[in-house]
Amino acid sequence: MASTERTTSGHPHGAAATQHLRAQVEGFVRNRVVPRERVLDAGGPEAGGALSELRRLARSEGLWALALPAELGGGGLTLAAYAEIAEAEGASDHGPTALGSAPLLDVRMLARHGGPRVRELYLERLVAGEIRSCYAMTEPDVPGTDPFLTVTQAEQRPDGNWSITGRKWFTSGAADADLVTVLARTDGTAGDRDGLSLLLVPTASPGFRVGRELPLFGAGGQWEIELDRVTVPGDHMIGERGQALAVAGERLQLGRTLRSLRWLGQAQRAFDLMCERAVVRTGSRGPLAGHQLVQQHVFDALLALRTTRPLVHEAVALLDAGRDAHTEVGLAKVAAARTLQQVTDAAIQIHGAAGLGPDTALPALFRTGRAARILDGPDELHITSVARRILRTYERNPVTPR
Ligand SMILES: Cc1cc2nc3c(=O)[nH]c(=O)nc-3n(C[C@H](O)[C@H](O)[C@H](O)COP(=O)(O)OP(=O)(O)OC[C@H]3O[C@@H](n4cnc5c(N)ncnc54)[C@H](O)[C@@H]3O)c2cc1C
Repeated sequence: MASTERTTSGHPHGAAATQHLRAQVEGFVRNRVVPRERVLDAGGPEAGGALSELRRLARSEGLWALALPAELGGGGLTLAAYAEIAEAEGASDHGPTALGSAPLLDVRMLARHGGPRVRELYLERLVAGEIRSCYAMTEPDVPGTDPFLTVTQAEQRPDGNWSITGRKWFTSGAADADLVTVLARTDGTAGDRDGLSLLLVPTASPGFRVGRELPLFGAGGQWEIELDRVTVPGDHMIGERGQALAVAGERLQLGRTLRSLRWLGQAQRAFDLMCERAVVRTGSRGPLAGHQLVQQHVFDALLALRTTRPLVHEAVALLDAGRDAHTEVGLAKVAAARTLQQVTDAAIQIHGAAGLGPDTALPALFRTGRAARILDGPDELHITSVARRILRTYERNPVTPR
């Protein structure tokens, strides 16, 4: 029998306890979040009301912020334990926000790299869901894949405060955020490989403006933001001056892994919809499930799911152990994004026109799968980075006998 420990928040740890929590989260997402997805997707005041109600329910059912540190009011699960739950939570794009896990990356970043004032002002409120945060690296006028070209500029004034000017886009959740972490050049000139820093900007600051919304295949949530000489206190720098990419890299590694878990949850949901449709949709020759070409879709989708899941959990295990996981995170991210796109595409095919229409979650799942191949670094970046790493090991050790 698995051993069981308790965290200070009262959430039991251990394999059986994690399975129990996973079942509870699965039920919460299926019965409470999924029925409200259409309202939440549409945004606006109705979505805000639905989200508040879901968050209230999550708290009352003991499922709030499971992965966030117990000393800040979260559930205190380890990364390995949360990984068992994240797939179920992420089966809906709205799961992490409804269940209070969405700020995990920001909370970990601020706890590790924020100064005492930042930690005191914001951490507990982020975990409690009283304030929200977002993250702004990508800019409209330079390739996001080349952060050294960042145009946004921060200048330090004699009083120690920073003045930030620039534009960002595809800043997820910016319209509802109270805080945004901004990547800005503090030293050197565009193209330099150092001189970039991260600054935490309260969105209520004068000169901060949320601009256009950038609907993604019709869905909201992505925004342009503008900073016009926004003043930020000197102690709102995150990490050391000029060390932004080390902090961002650490954050991205975990972020890509968490997203991969959530994409697996969504791919599994598309797979379930596909199989259910195949067995009930019946023509004069019997159910769709009887056609070998339909069975091919089922096999290929299952193979994609079953081969991707261990890759993602391998990345989790390495990150949890504090070990280098660049290769494993790269493999996991590309595999999970491809799997989500492949499985939702197959599920849409088996549904026929219904798969493109408004009656299933498939269009939304497909949209996430398509975006997955670009956000947090497009496929090409991970493919070349992993391949280069592997090839370097052969340059160092050409030992295979001919
Ligand atoms: C849904 C969504 C949410 C996002 N949320 C955020 C957010 O919250 N905060 C944020 O800062 N950003 C966010 N982004 C932006 C995202 O991180 C960038 O889109 C991504 O890093 C790629 O940058 P880019 O769009 O500027 O593409 P570019 O850098 O212009 O690249 C375009 C294409 O060129 C090709 N390419 C680029 N480099 C290489 C290479 N080395 N080798 C081969 N081909 C290459 C690839 O096909 C790539 O897709 C989000 C994007 C999406 C779609």
